[in-house]
Amino acid sequence: MSFDFSIGDEQRGFLDTVDRFMARHLPPEEIRRRDREHVPPYDILPAMGDAGLLSLPIPVEHGGLGRDWRDVALVQLRLGERGYMAASIFNRVIGFGAMSLLTYGSAARKAELLPRLVAGRLLIALALTEPEAGSDAAALRTRAERVSGGWRIVGRKVWISDAAGADYLLVAARSQPGSTGAEGISMFLVPPRTPGIAMTQLPKVGNNAMPSWDIGFDDVMVGEDALVGEEGRGFRHLMSTLHYSRASMAATVTGCAQAALAAALAHAKERRQFGRPIGAFQAIRHRLADMQMRVDQARLTVLHLAWAIAAGADCRREAAQAKIVATECLQYVTDHGMQILASAGYSADSDMQRYWRDARLYSFGEGSNEIQRDIVARELGL
Ligand SMILES: Cc1cc2nc3c(=O)[nH]c(=O)nc-3n(C[C@H](O)[C@H](O)[C@H](O)COP(=O)(O)OP(=O)(O)OC[C@H]3O[C@@H](n4cnc5c(N)ncnc54)[C@H](O)[C@@H]3O)c2cc1C
Repeated sequence: MSFDFSIGDEQRGFLDTVDRFMARHLPPEEIRRRDREHVPPYDILPAMGDAGLLSLPIPVEHGGLGRDWRDVALVQLRLGERGYMAASIFNRVIGFGAMSLLTYGSAARKAELLPRLVAGRLLIALALTEPEAGSDAAALRTRAERVSGGWRIVGRKVWISDAAGADYLLVAARSQPGSTGAEGISMFLVPPRTPGIAMTQLPKVGNNAMPSWDIGFDDVMVGEDALVGEEGRGFRHLMSTLHYSRASMAATVTGCAQAALAAALAHAKERRQFGRPIGAFQAIRHRLADMQMRVDQARLTVLHLAWAIAAGADCRREAAQAKIVATECLQYVTDHGMQILASAGYSADSDMQRYWRDARLYSFGEGSNEIQRDIVARELGL
């Protein structure tokens, strides 16, 4: 498949909207403050909605703009470049929340929730991972038992982003007793303040504006309408949306890598040692050349995937590849960026140290790169 990646006036308009939105709501000093003080950007979601950014892929009948994934990816690239914490919350709303509802939500759920999501007034947290079920997510043990009028949920989830700040937890639980693996799992929309839910925040090294939670479910009672999608097919539903979240992560980390490269380049031009800018030394020049090549490669991979999604192609392999290429690009660029900035990068005030700390998550979060490589190999027939 070959694609033309040129963009038109409408797409340039979306990118200008991102620039204006970020300058107003999350300028660089505000991003540093939120990272330092661990303040999530939930409060800016309504403004993101007002700017029209959350409407992009939502069908017109649900209050959206009905645009395809190419526009989403371009916006994600730009948001990632301007401030990863904005890109990251955008992804949790669109790449995960919206695409889950659109892919397997009922007509009633879509009508109820999508207009709220478009307006920046709905955040859904995915509660999949458990202490004994990380990469092997289908080994989950949280169970949902049928009771009169609904379901009783019992179990534990770990590392759930946004859990306390979300409007709903999308909980994966085993609803068919005796089932194993991907079979017999269902998805439930559960308000986080339902009796029986207990949360503890987990301390961590990066992504400070995305709080992570350990959640206990002790006889949590929910109604029939909490079930999302088909009973027993929840794991398959989740798998069918993964290319959106992988594409989202790939685009946003590529944008972030672009910002890290720009910071390293600016420093290499300004910082003088031995009477010359450090960018005059071959060791630094070659590092920057390699960083630029990686960023260009990641960008092309992201665009190729976005255009393939928009064309309706089966892109399991392309999505896994883009996630690997982009996340490893960001780690490469931030690692070398730290070396180029040296003490200036190691300062807690530098943006580079934040990019570098945050980057460590992405090669194992949302499906580790080892698992992604297995997907690529499987798609090659191995
Ligand atoms: C900050 C943060 C936010 C998160 N947010 C969420 C969230 O919102 N919702 C949610 O449900 N989860 C979330 N997670 C969980 C995340 O998805 C898991 O950490 C991830 O799936 C990996 O699982 P694990 O950490 O248990 O690693 P493990 O599965 O224990 O893996 C450890 C290592 O072994 C490797 N490995 C495992 N199996 C294989 C194999 N078959 N072949 C080769 N290598 C293998 C892995 O690649 C990895 O390198 C989050 C995690 C973090 C740290």
